[in-house]
Amino acid sequence: MGVTRRQFMKVSAAGLAASSVGALGFVGAGEALAAGVRPFRLEKATETRNACPYCAVACGVLIYSMPDGTAKDAKPKVVHIEGDPDHPVNRGTLCARGAASLGYLHSANRLQYPMHRKAGTDKFERVTWDFALDRITKLMKEDRDKNFIAKNRDGVTVNRWLSTGFFGGSSLSNEAGYLTYKFVRSTGILAFEDQARI
Ligand code: SF4
Repeated sequence: MGVTRRQFMKVSAAGLAASSVGALGFVGAGEALAAGVRPFRLEKATETRNACPYCAVACGVLIYSMPDGTAKDAKPKVVHIEGDPDHPVNRGTLCARGAASLGYLHSANRLQYPMHRKAGTDKFERVTWDFALDRITKLMKEDRDKNFIAKNRDGVTVNRWLSTGFFGGSSLSNEAGYLTYKFVRSTGILAFEDQARI
C-alpha cells in the first residue's frame, strides 16, 4: 500500500505520542493525547512540484495552494513553499533565498506584466504583451540594421552585433535555454547571459 508523505507524518506523530505516554503506564491517556494531535496544516492543500526560480542550481520545491476564500470558484492561493525531499539536486533543502520565495511570490513590488515608460514622462504604464514584444522587436531590428558588423577590418567575416545584449533566465529548462542560446547567437549578439540549467 502506498503511503504519502503527509499520511506518514500524521500517523508517526499520533503513534509517537500514544506509545510514549502508554509506556509510562497511563492507560488510555495515549489515545486521548493522540486524538489531540492537530491535523497536518497542509492536509487539504494542493501540492505542486516545481523548481526554485532564483539561480541555476534549480532546487526542487513543493508548492502548496488552497482556495483563496470560501466561494465555490475561489482562485487558488499559494500558502506554503518548501524544499522537495525527493528532488536529486537539493534533497529537501533550500538556501535563504529559496526558503523566502513565498514572500517574493506575494510581494507588492513583484513585476507581473510588461510596463512601458513613454519618452518625456517619468511614469511607467501597464501595456499588453503584444505591445511589448512588437516594440522590443522593432527596436532590436533598428539597432541591428544600424550596427551589425559583417566583416572586420581585415575583411574576415565575423557577423557580430555588439550594441545589444540579451538576458536569459535561471528558470529556463535545458530545452528553453538551448533554444534561447541558438536564437541569440544566430542574430550575432555576443553579450549574452543565460544562467540556464545547462
Ligand atoms: S534554493 Fe537557493 S541554491 Fe536552490 S535554486 Fe533557489 S536560490 Fe538557488
